[in-house]
Amino acid sequence: MDQQTLQQIKDRLQERKTELLRLIKEQQEEMGAIQSTRSPDWLDLTTATENIHLLMTLGDNERRELDDIEIALGKIDDGSYGECEACGRRIRPARLEALITARLCKKCKDEEEATLRPNAPSYSIGWRAIEQDPTLLAGAGEEEEKE
Ligand SMILES: [Zn+2]
Repeated sequence: MDQQTLQQIKDRLQERKTELLRLIKEQQEEMGAIQSTRSPDWLDLTTATENIHLLMTLGDNERRELDDIEIALGKIDDGSYGECEACGRRIRPARLEALITARLCKKCKDEEEATLRPNAPSYSIGWRAIEQDPTLLAGAGEEEEKE
């Protein structure tokens, strides 16, 4: 990857970083506003709690993206940007274009996703539950016969 392209990516990352920091700051201010609202009505309090949860979740995503950006910026500095962390091969430019902070090549990412979310048929999950709690199975057939 040439220096000019890297510089462009760096600019884009830094721009996004500034935007995310602004968003996080806004959310924190909003959260502070919700928390400082003291309402005797428990319903309002529930809504406020829900809002805080929502904001915290949103903040989580942004913080994660911010982490990815920091990692990508560090990689540009040490010259490893665009390399797959798992197999060391070069990540295709089209993929980096779509996901500027990509850390894995398409192949390794697909493999990671397959491990994290195995496409296991539902019955295997059922059997695992039965293994852990055999009482799930006991009596199940009998009851059906009675009816
Ligand atoms: Zn890879």
